[in-house]
Amino acid sequence: MTAVLVLNADLGPLHRVTLRHAVRMLLREVAVVHESEPDRLIGVYPMPKVVRLVSYVVTRWRFGSGPAWSRAGVHARDGRRCGYCGKDATTIDHILPRSRGGRNTWKNTVAACMVCNQRKGDRTPAEAGMVLRHQPSIPTWHALAQR
Ligand SMILES: [Zn+2]
Repeated sequence: MTAVLVLNADLGPLHRVTLRHAVRMLLREVAVVHESEPDRLIGVYPMPKVVRLVSYVVTRWRFGSGPAWSRAGVHARDGRRCGYCGKDATTIDHILPRSRGGRNTWKNTVAACMVCNQRKGDRTPAEAGMVLRHQPSIPTWHALAQR
């Protein structure tokens, strides 16, 4: 079963749905066929590859700045593993230290073990000669919910 891409009314891509779901959207007239497979019909409709919502849906809650920062959220995002050595993390490290203006943001914080956190101290990873295993990112609601 191929997935059908759903576009918002402003043509911004939203997500993919099953063909069956897409046809239901057409039947309910909440979406129209935007792009179809040539020469193929499903019922009375051209076989959709892309459908477009008839009215705009506000998606800021899904695609905005993401969940609010929290220490628990950082641990969940990083799987409770230290961002430097991969061992069990019990602390939060500020990549740019708070003493130097680093803030509580998703991109400035990683889960860290006590040893790495103390070793790094009030330095940036570069200054401390430490390498992040991955660049911290803003987690999606979905990723946080799965943990
Ligand atoms: Zn560590």
